[in-house]
Amino acid sequence: MCGFDGVQIHTAHGYLLSNFLNPSENRRTDAYGGSLENRFRLIARILSAVRAACGDDFAVLVKADCNGCGDFPALLKLYEGCGVDAVEVSGVDFNHRAGQKTPFYAQALLQGSNCVSLPVFPVGGVFSRQTAEELLRQGFPLVSFSRALICEPDFAAGLKNGTAEESKCLACNACYTIYRKRYVRCIQHKDEIPQLKKVFG
Ligand code: SF4
Repeated sequence: MCGFDGVQIHTAHGYLLSNFLNPSENRRTDAYGGSLENRFRLIARILSAVRAACGDDFAVLVKADCNGCGDFPALLKLYEGCGVDAVEVSGVDFNHRAGQKTPFYAQALLQGSNCVSLPVFPVGGVFSRQTAEELLRQGFPLVSFSRALICEPDFAAGLKNGTAEESKCLACNACYTIYRKRYVRCIQHKDEIPQLKKVFG
């Protein structure tokens, strides 16, 4: 056993499972295409298998797009029906928001999450304690940091011990390009990592 407390199944951002959910990408005519329930079928089977393998005491989360399947509230209900413990929500256009340092999908999430009782929380555009606390005040049970942690892996620890307030992340999205080259690192680290220097000079 590795000692992990939970796992997150990634069903967003144009990866395979989000392709199944997206009606403009899923052209199947079998039981895995057509209605949202059909497009969700593979995810339901995966979630069921993961839960069976990991047990009820293990946290099973999903990452979902709020704007990829055509009916976000119905998607949340399907996740709830599968017994997931929480849904972290992003969107299909997450990588077209370079420079935006405000929460990406908070409004859509607040509307969608009213129809389910499981925790639904945002990711994207959160770079400071102030923004995170504002989201918590709006009613979200949790808040995710993403690029802030690529930029500064110890950012969450800094928030906890009071030494950090605002991430040094530029929201430039260069890490997505780096990711495609299989080096998940911040452009601000390029002097420390020879492979990045080769890519970004
Ligand atoms: S490359 Fe670094 S600074 Fe730019 S968005 Fe990614 S983490 Fe932030």
